[in-house]
Order: sequence, then C-alpha cells, then structure tokens
Amino acid sequence: MSQTLRPAQRTRSFTESVIREMTRVARETGAVNLAQGFPDFPAPEGMKEAAVRAIRGDINQYAVTWGAPSLRNALAQWYRSRYDMDVDPDKHVTITCGATEAMASGFLGLLDPGDEVVVLEPFYENYAPDALLAGAEARFLALDPPEYRLHADRLEALVTPRTRALVLNTPNNPTGRVFSDDEMEAVARICRERDLVVVTDEIYECILYEGRHRPMATLPGMADRTITISGASKTFSVTGWRLGGIVAPESITGAIRKVHDFLTVGAPAPLQEAWAWAIRELGDEYFRSLATQYRARRDLLVQGLQDAGFRCQAPEGAYYILADFSQLSDDDDTAFSHRLAREAGVAPVPGSSFFHGGGGGSLVRFAFCKQMSTLQDGVERLIRFSAAGGS
Ligand code: GLN
Repeated sequence: MSQTLRPAQRTRSFTESVIREMTRVARETGAVNLAQGFPDFPAPEGMKEAAVRAIRGDINQYAVTWGAPSLRNALAQWYRSRYDMDVDPDKHVTITCGATEAMASGFLGLLDPGDEVVVLEPFYENYAPDALLAGAEARFLALDPPEYRLHADRLEALVTPRTRALVLNTPNNPTGRVFSDDEMEAVARICRERDLVVVTDEIYECILYEGRHRPMATLPGMADRTITISGASKTFSVTGWRLGGIVAPESITGAIRKVHDFLTVGAPAPLQEAWAWAIRELGDEYFRSLATQYRARRDLLVQGLQDAGFRCQAPEGAYYILADFSQLSDDDDTAFSHRLAREAGVAPVPGSSFFHGGGGGSLVRFAFCKQMSTLQDGVERLIRFSAAGGS
C-alpha cells in the first residue's frame, strides 16, 4: 500500500462501531434488529408537519452556526422549566449534529493531549474514541453487575493530576441505571474537590421508569463545571435527524462553538425548527405517554428474555437490557450475537462493545425502542431458539 495512504495514527486504536455493524448484520440475515437503539415507530405527527412547513417555508439554508435562535430559546426554556436551570440561549447553548457530535465537540473544545477522562464501564462505545480523537486518555471506572453501582472510593482512586473530566451518562446505556442522589452527590463532591468537569450524556432524560431526571448541572456548585448534552433523537424518536444540544458555561461555550463550526457548520436548519416546535408544543401528556409506552415495551422484553433463559433485570431508565446468556451458550459474546442473528433471527449487540480490553463476554444488549409487535416477534423467536437447545 502507498505510504501516502497510511491511515492516521489516531484512527488505529479504535474499531468501527459494533452497534452499527450489528444493524448491518440484522439487515443481511433478516433478523429482528434489537441491536442499534433506534425506534421502528413513527415520530410525532405534528413534529413531522413542522419539518415539512419549515422546508416549504424556505428554511433551507444554514442556520446560525451554533443553532437557530428559535431552537436555542426553546431549549433554554426547556432547561429552565423542567429543571430550574439558569440557561441563557446566547451564552450557554450550542446545537449540534446529534449528541454524538456534541460529545466530540465538547471533548475537542475542552481536552488537551495528555489529559485523562474518567469513563464509567460498561460504557456507550463512542466515549473512548472521542477521548482518543481529542488526544486524551480514557480511564475506566468499573461498575459491577448486577447492581452497576458507582463507588465513590473507586472514583477517587482513579483521579490523577492529569484528570480533567468525567463522562456521566444517566439514564445509562447500556446498564439501564439511573444514578441515585447519593451517587450523583458523591460524583459532584469529588469533581468540586478535584477540580474536574463533568460531561454528561442525558439523551435518555425523558425515558425513565421512576421519578424524574436530575441533571448533574443542578447539583450545588456544578452548573459552572458541567457540560450538559442531550438531543431530540430519543425523546422525539427522530434518531436520523441528527439533532443534539449542549448547555455549557460561557467560558467553554466559545471553544466548543468553534470546534462545532469547523466540524459541521451546523445542524439541519428546517429540522431545528421542528425540534423547537416539539419542545414548545408537546406537553406533559406526550412525555407521560412516552414513558408509559416504554415501560410496557421494557416489561414485555424483560419477561421474554427471562422466559428464553437469559438472566437480566428491568432497567430503571433508557431503553436497553443487558442480558447474561451463559445459561444458553458457551460461545463468546460476539459469536453468540452473530449466531443469534442467523439462527434465532434476533440481532443483539455483543457485550464486549461496552468494555475496554475484555469484559462483557457473557453479555449481550437488547434495545426495546420497538413496536410491541416487533418485540413480541423477537421474543417468540428467542423462545423457539432456546427451546431447540440454544447453541
Ligand atoms: N445510542 C444508540 C445505541 O446505543 C444508537 C447509537 C448510534 O448508533 N448513534 O444503540
């Protein structure tokens, strides 16, 4: 191969996304896709209409780089009214191409080469590559199954003089944890004492099964050291629209906006208008019904997985179930996932995708952001597979 075409060093220490790969496997094998977390049901009708209106109304050119004013205003109002956060749309809000870009822009705006970032393990697979792209190093804080509790003493032991930030994803993908007040307060205390920034991933803020979401930025002293990330994808079932949002202190927002500008210029202008519409117009009833429907989907899949011989428990939030398959097979997680796609006709994500260098070998993750009929079909296939002797 020509030396000129040698891939950059920074791309060599991570692989392509296994989550996205399993979607391709599901397509090839005709399996029910319970791998990648995207809904197979429609987005809210009014939101789709708002997007169409925006396109017909000629909102088809670049929006303001850091977000259309209507959307930044709506999002600031969202954080004020739901969480009592003091958010200024001009100083604190940046709209990005999904929470994925928000996380990358946040890291690139914040971190220097050699900095360390604490990532809770198991983790959503983007965080470590994001850290590497910023030249930083991920340090992993283990959460032990089946409770996946966050131990403050372990966090304290992991922090070094080079640690700059911690990534907190709650409700959590893939464990389903919603971190408790105790855990959140311990993280906040350590971040204040050791002068760390928390980069949160709150994309599942509206998908939880008990109580209300509590953003890290609302804990005492944390608004000034938290980069809050969320988006439209999960709350409004529009993962393909690529709309994310960042709320950050003014002192770091400028750096994040510069990175965002040169990476993507901006998120799709007409879709930003439709997200603003959804925030303004879809009231409590929409969010109650979203959580109720997700609860029914969760209960169906948890029961079905247990009936098929998986060991798992009901998540407290988000829409994933991490399931132990060791009663069904001696395969490793990757072999088992591919076999499940081919032989059972259901595609999960191998557990090792959520761990660095080993771990997750007897786990697979199932997503239940699917219609009840899709889940029912998936469960029947799994039960047939296990009744036939598994693998
Ligand atoms: N967050 C979803 C998942 O974990 C989808 C992520 C993605 O592919 N961008 O499956």
